Amino acid sequence: MKIGSYEIYPVEGGSFRLDGGALYGIIPRALWEKTSPPDPLNRVRVQLRSLLLAGNGRKILIDTGMGQDWTEKSREIYNYHNAVNPIVESLQTYGFTAEDITDVILTHLHFDHTGGAVAHENGSYRPQFPHAAYYIQREQLEWALSPSGKDKGSFIRSTFMPLLEAKVLTLLDGYTRIDDEVELLTFNGHTKSQQLVRIFGSNISIFFAGDLFPFASHFKPPCIMAYDLNPLITLNEKNEILRLAYEEGWIVFFQHDPENTAVTIGKNEKGFTIKDIIKIV
Ligand SMILES: [Zn+2]
Repeated sequence: MKIGSYEIYPVEGGSFRLDGGALYGIIPRALWEKTSPPDPLNRVRVQLRSLLLAGNGRKILIDTGMGQDWTEKSREIYNYHNAVNPIVESLQTYGFTAEDITDVILTHLHFDHTGGAVAHENGSYRPQFPHAAYYIQREQLEWALSPSGKDKGSFIRSTFMPLLEAKVLTLLDGYTRIDDEVELLTFNGHTKSQQLVRIFGSNISIFFAGDLFPFASHFKPPCIMAYDLNPLITLNEKNEILRLAYEEGWIVFFQHDPENTAVTIGKNEKGFTIKDIIKIV
């Protein structure tokens, strides 16, 4: 799919599993288990989908999945079994290499978004995309360096400290335009200053939904992940983006939904819904 100057490629980072209760918040399992069948440990499959934008002389990667640097114990907990960095493998299916990436936008520093940002070889870490500038919100980095007791398990320093040490991180302060067709919007419900990306051409745009809407199920107002630091802020942020996406016909791209990659937004008497399923490639 082409939007403005950019060719858009979904980049598959494999999948892992998270507790269904944590993913669906206050929604009872009796309601979500039909669409998200849990395994015997109550875990639901979560996709690790990144997005590549190729155009304007750049190859911009949005998020990097979980990477390869996992202990056996953690692999069992999250049911994550990729031996190599799946994002790099997926790029290769489109004919791109890690060296081709010019920019990496990290939405936030939770391990399922930054795990693939660094490579671990012979006991040392280096940026996985050696020619790329990496972007993160300053507030998110500061939070990740000193998280709360509630969310410290979501941050793994070895997935982002090597970027700081290699001096490849650009720190941003709020709304940012990468160029005339790519903008970063910030959100504070899920974590401090999650930055989500909108790519827009003259009459079409696509919104990378990150952890604002992990699944299409999260369009429903009370469906808010237990991970979120500020659920009532998430509630307002979801409403505002759904309203804009509905009114302006945005495509919403899901990072985590195993069933849906991209959709447009409809509306009925119960609220916002999926209008059409969109094929990106
Ligand atoms: Zn997150």
